[in-house]
Amino acid sequence: MNILIKNGRVLDPATDKDGIYDILVTDNIITKVESNIDEDAIKSEQECKVIDASNQFVMPGLIDLHVHFREPGFEYKETIKTGSLSAARGGFTSVCPMPNTKPVIDSVEMLEKELDIIKRDAVVNVYPVAAITKGMKGEELTDIRELVKHGAIAISEDGKSVMNSSLLREAMKIAKETGIPVLSHCEDINLVEGGVMNKGERSEELGLKGISNAVEDIIVARDIMLAKETGCRLHLCHCSTYDSVRLIEEAKKEGLPVTGEVCPHHFSLTEEDIVADDANYKMNPPIRTKKDVDELIAGIHNNIMDIISTDHAPHSEEEKTGSMTKAPFGIVGLETSVSLVVTELLDKGVITPLKMAEIMSYNPAKVIGIDRGTLQVGKVADITIIDPNKEYVIDKNEFVSKGKNTPFDGKKVKGKVMTTIVNGKIVYSEC
Ligand SMILES: [Zn+2]
Repeated sequence: MNILIKNGRVLDPATDKDGIYDILVTDNIITKVESNIDEDAIKSEQECKVIDASNQFVMPGLIDLHVHFREPGFEYKETIKTGSLSAARGGFTSVCPMPNTKPVIDSVEMLEKELDIIKRDAVVNVYPVAAITKGMKGEELTDIRELVKHGAIAISEDGKSVMNSSLLREAMKIAKETGIPVLSHCEDINLVEGGVMNKGERSEELGLKGISNAVEDIIVARDIMLAKETGCRLHLCHCSTYDSVRLIEEAKKEGLPVTGEVCPHHFSLTEEDIVADDANYKMNPPIRTKKDVDELIAGIHNNIMDIISTDHAPHSEEEKTGSMTKAPFGIVGLETSVSLVVTELLDKGVITPLKMAEIMSYNPAKVIGIDRGTLQVGKVADITIIDPNKEYVIDKNEFVSKGKNTPFDGKKVKGKVMTTIVNGKIVYSEC
């Protein structure tokens, strides 16, 4: 079936387009982006679904470079099916699941198993990320060349850092040779010392162990230096600190192939929002201070930080009940990302609507090198329609993700995903 999207505010950073247009999708391809496409003429020729997008944003389908879909191994937390349904509801048309499943995605065999599940169950495009070391043990490299050949879009040790710098340098050389980016989770494990939240006044008040900024900053600096030496494309995941932004700014000034991402929880909350020992505020890296948050927001505004990712990390209710000391790290993010970006960045003038499409779709597509993230004629129709003025209250019980672990339950927000189209098919619709 064909789809005609009428009167939306079309935002396409690839061509700097920001204006009211109609978009025609024929089969799975965008075939027209024009003012006033004649609905009757189209309908007389073929069956066509018409979507009225008046007062709504029509963006290239959103892309999340950082999700955890937990399959195989932790299907009680999330599966590729429920994760991708959650992505669709959140406006995401492409996602990259991290390899810290059980077993780890560290061999062609495991990767092919994952790809089979994706083919069977996923409702959005899912691009798997492979591990850097076998079993993510940090001892022996995976066969990166073969993994890339069989469909790994990037490599990452997400959940931890490859602490052996020599091993990471070797991986970066192969990443450079094979043309993929390294997605870096930055955390010096030797400095963590059992921390569960940001190290500072609040952790002391709550009597909880803290994670200092240096835990992240040291590895950000190291990885940038290794990217400089190897020429590898380095993408720094879920940056949370003042100095991460500063280091990325310096790297960019030098022309290094370094990009950085920020998660909605890291720009929406400060440690002061943690009023009790509540595991729904436990994530890695942790929510930082106002100084850090201000710098992250300035970094997004000044094009130092390139991408918004969610770090969608579902856990069961049981795991996230009780003290931070015992609970696993992570919160869900796919179904709250758009509204937090609209509420905390767009509405406050940090970004324009066009820039929102850039950091949530166009830039992520560039980092992983996929031919998506644009609304140009001839491209595959991945499209997200958002009502930027719709106000609502986040209700975790409405999430289609298995994970309900969010600190944003009950938060009043603005900006709702109305329709998600993947490869020319409507995979989610609010109406
Ligand atoms: Zn991570």
